[in-house]
Amino acid sequence: MSVLETTKSEQAIALENQYGAHNYHPLPVVLNRGEGVYVWDVDGKKYYDFLSAYSAVNQGHCHPTIVNALTEQAKTLTLTSRAFYNDLLGKYEKFASEYFGFHKLLPMNTGAEAVETALKICRKWAYEKKGLDENDAEIVVCENNFHGRTTTIISFSNDPVARKNFGPYTQGFIKIEYDNLEALEAVLSTNNNIAGFLVEPIQGEAGVYVPSEGYLKKAKALCEQYNVLFIADEVQTGIARTGKLLAVDHEAVTPDILILGKALSGGAYPVSAVLANNDIMEVIEPGTHGSTFGGNPIAAAVAMAALTVVEEERLAENADRLGAIFRSELQAYIETSSICSLVRGKGLLNAIVINDDEDSDTAWNICLRLRDNGLLAKPTHGNIIRFAPPLVMTEEQLRDCISIITKTLKEFEV
Ligand SMILES: *Cc1c(COP(=O)(O)O)cnc(C)c1O
Repeated sequence: MSVLETTKSEQAIALENQYGAHNYHPLPVVLNRGEGVYVWDVDGKKYYDFLSAYSAVNQGHCHPTIVNALTEQAKTLTLTSRAFYNDLLGKYEKFASEYFGFHKLLPMNTGAEAVETALKICRKWAYEKKGLDENDAEIVVCENNFHGRTTTIISFSNDPVARKNFGPYTQGFIKIEYDNLEALEAVLSTNNNIAGFLVEPIQGEAGVYVPSEGYLKKAKALCEQYNVLFIADEVQTGIARTGKLLAVDHEAVTPDILILGKALSGGAYPVSAVLANNDIMEVIEPGTHGSTFGGNPIAAAVAMAALTVVEEERLAENADRLGAIFRSELQAYIETSSICSLVRGKGLLNAIVINDDEDSDTAWNICLRLRDNGLLAKPTHGNIIRFAPPLVMTEEQLRDCISIITKTLKEFEV
């Protein structure tokens, strides 16, 4: 590593520090190239990516099919706005609606926008279809949720850092414990103003909390019983990450409203979507909702390519198979470990819990050492490390990664 190259990464970090708002605390590594499961830093060092941009890059970095769709469309037509039709949006809406099994799709750009869209659809449905009085609708959400960063979404977060000094908050949300059916039934059976239940099938940002088996199925049944919309935020869990196309597929649940983002573009472009059937989606009429970039031709082309890759390369099956290997190998290590107490997850969305308090810097230091050993991961909530590599990984690569992870953990055993 030459002095000049070292300066490159220090310079990049210094520039962000000086000219960028400090809304993130990145691991100190400066990347400038990616391919498949790998990324490279400015010094040419190669790493396994075990974050996949929060599961946006499920299809692997710079997947040629997706990059080709992006560049070809970028040369042809990029944006018309929805003031006019374009020749790709309808094709994409048909493709994705059939792909996920819904009548209709509403295109947006980021995950948070798609969540906002779902909340608006749910409220409008409650007034126009369920017959609630205007402004009475309430939406049930879960403690420790993560649904994005807009003012309304952080209004029902219980992460103090995400909320503090961003008030006043949006009304109309009731928080209950995650993975608690009694709490859900209690609120549904005593409050006639509930319009929807917004839930992550696995809580990703909270630390990869997998609910009890049967939770989603029973929660959906309760929602049906009380005429309440079951809204699945699959922005992180969707699109093959957990070993099925959607995480709700593990329990054969069909949400009333499905929210997608992240891997919908394979990380090439911001693309998100809300899907629902006609009886719900028809509450949206001209003028009631929109986005200048939502449904643009590049997004449509990229999303179709990204979803095609998921199917053609059988990424859900691969995530399911490799995830089982990952958890059993890590579990075997943990049996004799004092630093690591637990591995949990589904498919290739997994996390380990580090034996230390949430405010300790042990998990951060382990991630720094993993970086030195050629693997990039990031702590969530202090003592939890999420492991979510691109789903195009081979078994040989995964076994290499498992040995990097266990070797690194060993360095921290007392
Ligand atoms: C990342 C995420 C979001 C927000 O997506 P953005 O594109 O960052 O706005 C919403 N819900 C879940 C479950 C997420 O993981």
